[in-house]
Amino acid sequence: QKTEWAKLVNEKTLSADGHHVELAANIGTPNDLKGVLANGGEGVGLYRTEFLYMGRDQLPTEEEQFDAYKAVLEGMNGKPVVVRTLDIGGDKELPYLQLPKELNPFLGFRAIRLCLEEQDIFRTQLRALLRASSYGNLKIMFPMIATLDEFREAKAILEDEKQKLIAAGQTVADRIELGIMVEIPSTAVLADQFAKEVDFFSIGTNDLIQYTMAADRMNQRVSYLYQPYSPSILRLVKMVIDAAHAEGKWAGMCGEMAGDETAIPLLLGLGLDEFSMSATSILKARSQIKKLTKSEMESLANQVLNMQTTSQVIEAVNAATK
Ligand code: PEP
Ligand code: MG
Repeated sequence: QKTEWAKLVNEKTLSADGHHVELAANIGTPNDLKGVLANGGEGVGLYRTEFLYMGRDQLPTEEEQFDAYKAVLEGMNGKPVVVRTLDIGGDKELPYLQLPKELNPFLGFRAIRLCLEEQDIFRTQLRALLRASSYGNLKIMFPMIATLDEFREAKAILEDEKQKLIAAGQTVADRIELGIMVEIPSTAVLADQFAKEVDFFSIGTNDLIQYTMAADRMNQRVSYLYQPYSPSILRLVKMVIDAAHAEGKWAGMCGEMAGDETAIPLLLGLGLDEFSMSATSILKARSQIKKLTKSEMESLANQVLNMQTTSQVIEAVNAATK
């Protein structure tokens, strides 16, 4: 199997009936790029920048960040790179920020909420990204967006930094796609409105499942509720993809679900455009998708959206694909 997969390194990802989807990788540091290229990644679908901020005792400087973003963009050689702005809080703490302890950190002051408040941190990161943008195909994505107001405010700050850099004579790429993670149910439900203003969506199922089911993603005792194949989750995913397509935008997924063998047929059927996963899952997923027929997976997806339980969905996928 491994040798069969290895032959697919330089191939595009096409279904049996010729539909192209993009298989991208999730990375945490520039060092991960070797693995992305060795495994035939068509892009980076999620660069989790928080690792730049972790395991140290002060914030990374603009220069340090610029170097890291430039290295990733150059390393991917013009292929798309989606960089997520700082997603700290929840399970990821930064001791040197000395934020007060919260009762419910996953529902608290984190990610874009923190960035909109602590604007120095946010603006430094955005400047580093804008300066790096001319070295490759950069797309910027905001995490944990819950309302359109948050998106608009974050976008305005980005625009402000961009205009200041241009006025100072810096080169900034003409066009940088700007998207959001869809990982909070309110945003999935309002995806039709968001789609008018964003360039793309990336569905963050790791959090979307936990917030939809009210089940902590780290808590084993409630893991029975943490179900990617639940019809409720699949309906939210469909809403997001359909909303994007209605506005001519693209929809990706960067949660673990995107690389999951049982989920992939459904996501193909629902029309997902980009699947971002750990690099080591890419070739296996490519081999799986080559054997799937998109039109058949569309019928399967339509069927499971009307099912009642997760186990019915899993049975239907197994029956249709084995
Ligand atoms: C997600 O929530 O699905 C996601 C990709 O982000 P993280 O796992 O970093 O929260
Ligand atoms: Mg998340």
